[in-house]
Amino acid sequence: MYYFQKVQSDTMKVNHEKCGYCGACVGVCRNMAIELVENTIIIDDEKCKNCKLCAIVCPLNALEE
Ligand code: SF4
Ligand code: SF4
Repeated sequence: MYYFQKVQSDTMKVNHEKCGYCGACVGVCRNMAIELVENTIIIDDEKCKNCKLCAIVCPLNALEE
C-alpha cells in the first residue's frame, strides 16, 4: 500500500511568540480558515489556499509559511 506525506507546508502558520491575538487575520481570510479561540489562532490547513492576505494585514508579522 502506498501513502503520501506532505513534506513541505503550503499553508500559513502562526508564530505564537509574535502573535498578539488581535484577530485582524481572521477577518480578512476569505476561506474562513482562521479562528481565534481563547487567545489562540488556529489555521485550518484544509481550508487555507495560501493567498497570504492574512500575512499582509498582520501588524506583528506573525504569519509565516
Ligand atoms: S493578525 Fe497577526 S497578531 Fe493579529 S491575530 Fe492574526 S496572526 Fe496574531
Ligand atoms: S493564506 Fe489566505 S487562505 Fe490561508 S489563512 Fe491566510 S488569508 Fe486564509
